[in-house]
Amino acid sequence: MVNDDLLKESLLELYEGAPCGYIFTAPDGTFLRVNQTFLAWTGYKRTDLISKRRLQDLLTVPGRLFYENQYAPLLRMQGFVNEVALDIVRPERDPLPVLVNSVQHTRGGHGATDEPRFIASIVFDATGRRAYERELLRARQDAERLAVIVAASNDAILSASPERVVETWNPGAERLFGRPASEMVGRALGTALPVAARAQDWAALEDSLQRGQPVYIDTIGIHANGETIDVSVSFTPHFGPLGELSAISSIIRDIRQRRAAERLEQEFLAMASHELRSPLSTIKGHAQLMQRQGRYNERGAQTIVSQVDHLNRLVSDLLLASQAASGRLDTQTEVLDLCVEARQAAATLVRPTGPPVDVLTPDQPVLVQADSLRLRQVLANLLTNAGKYAPADSPITVRVAPVSSDVDTRHASVSVEDRGPGIPPDALPRLFDRFFRVGATAHTAQGLGLGLYISLQLIKAMGGTISVQSEEGRGSTFTVTLPLATAAGSATTSGAPA
Ligand code: ADP
Repeated sequence: MVNDDLLKESLLELYEGAPCGYIFTAPDGTFLRVNQTFLAWTGYKRTDLISKRRLQDLLTVPGRLFYENQYAPLLRMQGFVNEVALDIVRPERDPLPVLVNSVQHTRGGHGATDEPRFIASIVFDATGRRAYERELLRARQDAERLAVIVAASNDAILSASPERVVETWNPGAERLFGRPASEMVGRALGTALPVAARAQDWAALEDSLQRGQPVYIDTIGIHANGETIDVSVSFTPHFGPLGELSAISSIIRDIRQRRAAERLEQEFLAMASHELRSPLSTIKGHAQLMQRQGRYNERGAQTIVSQVDHLNRLVSDLLLASQAASGRLDTQTEVLDLCVEARQAAATLVRPTGPPVDVLTPDQPVLVQADSLRLRQVLANLLTNAGKYAPADSPITVRVAPVSSDVDTRHASVSVEDRGPGIPPDALPRLFDRFFRVGATAHTAQGLGLGLYISLQLIKAMGGTISVQSEEGRGSTFTVTLPLATAAGSATTSGAPA
């Protein structure tokens, strides 16, 4: 008897203080009995629940819907429900996430066939598990986001196992090397990666990876079609929680454009030094001659002055190009008659042989908003090019149109047309780039490849456009459009960075 009491008391203690909630509910959900743990977790008083509230009344709205539509029918049907995730609303606290296991007790014993008597449920606190699931979900979303970036990246991105076996090969790598992931995954990194890394590069790479440092090399990539590509390659070691090498990632970037720009810059520097030196040596030659002769020589002095002018133009072009590249190009616009500007520019072109420049203008003035000095410079650039690249005796025409047909009715245009060698179609998209010169014509005349670049930047700063139409062997027409002067006055504009 004493033992029986002790057992009862122990069981009751176990029931009340168990590390999980125990609840007994009537078939309609009304609380019949709850243990202390459940009350402590939820903050309800026993007297608030027993015979007064139903389990579903304590649930959040989605939980209540789930209770009605899934939990209760399933319980009636199969007699039990396991691992149901619910949230219990608590007074003055956040809802408690729980996992519930329920068994239906019937009059005839356990089972679903007889009339239900009550439902016994065990309630587990799922706060930790929910947090873990949220963490897992966040990690998965992060991984998915990263995967989207890797898949969409223009760079080749790949990863290898610590044993240097390629494990992933993104679409960027497929495009860059023309080799599908199916062909590359599973192969050894050192032999499969189609880059011309030398043995010592791989040795240095191994060394750095062992020391946990990333490696960068600029080298040549080889496309499946045999084409070579300038690439920059990085290898980064990744480590696991115990400090062991867990993976190697590699990003390979196509640097052909950068290399081309570097080459262009090198060529430009060589050309600029030459261009600046040749007038200097002419000046020096004439000055030395006068020194030796001990007298003034008119022809020599004229040459010196014209060479100094030429040097001045070169230096101011260099300055303008650098201002344009950093967006510091200022223009002062005013109302100008484009016909007058065109005639003046044509008159200043020096052509020792060949017919004078033909200028075709409408009878009425064409008033535009432009910077007079800069516009003259642009027209001089276009006319000098026509004079430089077209045969000396071929005609050059300047044409002013009151309304530009290719832009809109708010612009007028002036074009310079020559019967020169024309420009190859593949060079047209880069014609207005800094330092760009067409290979075939570059050797026929001196230049720095800056005139058209500067012209475009100046015209853009004035709110206009510049374009070219050209046919190889027939000639070229450069057309400048400028905003029509809608109101008299002047304005200052600043060019955007090129
Ligand atoms: P530069 O004349 O100093 O080389 P530009 O920027 O004025 O520089 O011109 C860039 C290149 O465009 C020239 O080197 C030349 O190859 C080509 N080009 C410009 N104008 C003409 C033209 N009227 N006819 C043929 N080619 C031209």
